Amino acid sequence: ETITVQELANRMAEKGADLVKALFKMGMAVTVNQTIDQDTAELLITEFGHNVKRVSESDIDLSLDTAEDSPEALEPRAPVVTIMGHVDHGKTSLLDALRGTGVASGEAGGITQHIGAYQVTLKDKSKITFLDTPGHEAFSEMRARGADVTDIVILVVAADDGLMPQTIEAINHTKAANVPMIVAINKVDKEDANPQRVRERLLEHEVIVEEMSGDVQDVEVSALKKTGLDELVEKIQLQAELLELKANPNRDAEGIVIEAKLDKGRGPVATVLVNRGTLRVGDVFVVGAESGKVRALIDDKGRQVKEAGPSVPVEVLGLSGVPSAGDPLQVVENEARAREVAEYRQSVLLQKRTAQAPASLESMFSALKDKQAIEYPLVVKADTQGSVEAIVSSINKISTDDIKARVLHSGVGGITESDVTLAGASGAPIIGFNVRANAKAREIAVRQGVALKYYDIIYDLIDEIRAGMAGELGPEA
Ligand code: GDP
Repeated sequence: ETITVQELANRMAEKGADLVKALFKMGMAVTVNQTIDQDTAELLITEFGHNVKRVSESDIDLSLDTAEDSPEALEPRAPVVTIMGHVDHGKTSLLDALRGTGVASGEAGGITQHIGAYQVTLKDKSKITFLDTPGHEAFSEMRARGADVTDIVILVVAADDGLMPQTIEAINHTKAANVPMIVAINKVDKEDANPQRVRERLLEHEVIVEEMSGDVQDVEVSALKKTGLDELVEKIQLQAELLELKANPNRDAEGIVIEAKLDKGRGPVATVLVNRGTLRVGDVFVVGAESGKVRALIDDKGRQVKEAGPSVPVEVLGLSGVPSAGDPLQVVENEARAREVAEYRQSVLLQKRTAQAPASLESMFSALKDKQAIEYPLVVKADTQGSVEAIVSSINKISTDDIKARVLHSGVGGITESDVTLAGASGAPIIGFNVRANAKAREIAVRQGVALKYYDIIYDLIDEIRAGMAGELGPEA
């Protein structure tokens, strides 16, 4: 694989001429329009203090990976929390309750704005940032794009309804992301509430809560009666302390788009969660394939602010166009540079859209071989519970010492958007047995390069996986 010096410069947000100079020092006389190989590219990237991050063999994406901050520069930052759970189990009610004055310090001013995330200031002055867009797709899709913004997941389970399909999905998404979870057993005010049954059912999904002598924190709440909220907040703080969350506020800002829209009056608006550095009015930036200069920053209470530091969500005005959720924002030195990088990314996006090459099972295996990976993730969907169980147990049997199949998620029913985003985030193919993907799921699969494999005979399914393993991983499989 090769890349032109100019392309590489664009991706690193550096000047082409500087790269040419560095190459010259390394004994290579090339112009910005000439190509260099991958090894030379990696050498240059390291030389410029960036980290190499290969998204695929042919693509080096450096958008967010600039030099690490030194430990002394790091300061504590607020945890970023996402609430997940089954529909109607009270995610929105809980978000609203946590936002209310019950736990917050009763900060003056401003009217609540739904900008995709909000921050509460607690009575002890510490802060927690909540992502206001509950939904597994948002969570997994961001993760698939390398935007791991969530530090802690709160799993909401209604005590009267118990574990439902989306609860299990949320558990699997959270596990796949390796994010710590706190279980909020909601609606305990209801007469038919049975929190203990929730805890027991969670065991079946390897979520062992404290009450069952495990290490997953759990708390009984009522979003309606506003009970248990202080305790929930305490548990979030405890979990956050364990994570030792830190960031350097004193540098050019980097962040992630949580939400973006075209506003009639204000033009393109993006809610950005700052990861590190401080974003200020007047800063020039690249965000995904768009660029801009911060015209105004608006906080979650609708107030204009001059700056936003780590873990602070703000609406950013002054964008050239509407970016996508999960897009990285990066402050750069000037507008020409910002436009250049944005234009380059637009051309890459265009290429990707026209190319659309979903990964095959075979290429999955060869990628796996390259990585020397020991786990082979799969998502399995089938028409009946019996088929699901039969397939999962057969897949487990063909695992070898070198490679272990791991079913990330399995379930009865057609392949949904959520299945695809989960699979995409973990580079897993999806096995459909007597079921197919819906249109939206197919579209996302193409976009994320997720392989969809359909079977109607279990033997064929197992045989193909086994053949793939034998072919790519040696005869012992
Ligand atoms: P979401 O779909 O998970 O966001 O759920 P909502 O927050 O929209 O809540 C669904 C329904 O459950 C609404 O009618 C809420 O009023 C109700 N609800 C939410 N929390 C509680 C609770 O703690 N107790 C009771 N009794 N009802 C609740």
